[in-house]
Amino acid sequence: MPTWKYYLLPTSLPQAFQYIQSHGPSCLIVSGGTDLLLEIQQEHRAPVDALIDVTRIPELNAIEVRDERLFIGAAVPLNQVSGSLLVQQHGQALAESTGQIGGPQVRAVGTLGGNVGHALPAGDGAISLLALDAWAEVASAAGSRRIALAQLYKGPGVSALEAGKEIIVGFDIPLQQVGQGSAFSRVMRPQGVALPIINMAAWLEVRDDHITEARLAVGPAGPVPKRAGDIETFIQGKTLNDALLTEAKQVLHTCVQFRSSPLRATSGYRDHLAEVLLKRVLSTSWHRALQSNRGRRQE
Ligand SMILES: Cc1cc2nc3c(=O)[nH]c(=O)nc-3n(C[C@H](O)[C@H](O)[C@H](O)COP(=O)(O)OP(=O)(O)OC[C@H]3O[C@@H](n4cnc5c(N)ncnc54)[C@H](O)[C@@H]3O)c2cc1C
Repeated sequence: MPTWKYYLLPTSLPQAFQYIQSHGPSCLIVSGGTDLLLEIQQEHRAPVDALIDVTRIPELNAIEVRDERLFIGAAVPLNQVSGSLLVQQHGQALAESTGQIGGPQVRAVGTLGGNVGHALPAGDGAISLLALDAWAEVASAAGSRRIALAQLYKGPGVSALEAGKEIIVGFDIPLQQVGQGSAFSRVMRPQGVALPIINMAAWLEVRDDHITEARLAVGPAGPVPKRAGDIETFIQGKTLNDALLTEAKQVLHTCVQFRSSPLRATSGYRDHLAEVLLKRVLSTSWHRALQSNRGRRQE
């Protein structure tokens, strides 16, 4: 049975919205198709009239500095996101997460727009974008709006986008300043069931050996990608050392609860891994931030 009648490839946003208008509610946005086509083929979604592939639209394919922020187009393939020098300079956590998604084939066609659009609480790209304080630009026939990444999620697999009507154009993150650093890490089952057992991303700002600002994102720790606000507050104003890391692990257990999943891991194993990842992402971000401070003093 055919699962869609038309596969349309608009080359501009106005053309995409024309297609959307002519196919009404029976159309879906597709980028790399690594999630969506599987869902349609496995009949987790009803057949549709049209798939509108947004990867030929130039606005969705840019990576550039705009208004003091780094813009990353929603349709840039993941391997280009991870290989971008601008992303490596301003969002190390994002370069690291997109460099680990799937295998080379998935990264060659899969996109950040699709990773966020799929709305899973442990999407690797999404977790790092959250720690980097990303905002999304979302376009519809009525115009475009900016929305904080966390507001794009309603629940597991449910985004706040109007399905088939709104298109994520891209994401922007603040340019990384001296004294700031970020990192991403995850644990995956060896046989690699699409999503990780657990993932985590941190972003720190360090001045005079003290953390002046912190962001920590964890997945899957609830229905949507989660910021661990209690940890962020707890480590602020402090120096990262073994004693602080030990205390931070205790705080983590009070603010992040994991559940057992038959495909991936028990909650107990996730609790254990969370401590390992917490140490890893905080220490790496801390050292990167210090390194960039040292770089400034040597200039
Ligand atoms: C073998 C395999 C391994 C994988 N490994 C990982 C992994 O390690 N980590 C991980 O996080 N994910 C993984 N995934 C999931 C998936 O590949 C990624 O989430 C990928 O980023 C999805 O991007 P896509 O462009 O293929 O999305 P698509 O399949 O094209 O779209 C996914 C969803 O987003 C919507 N969408 C896509 N683009 C837009 C847009 N611009 N605007 C609005 N809505 C949009 C679609 O309508 C759909 O609902 C894996 C998948 C496979 C098949």
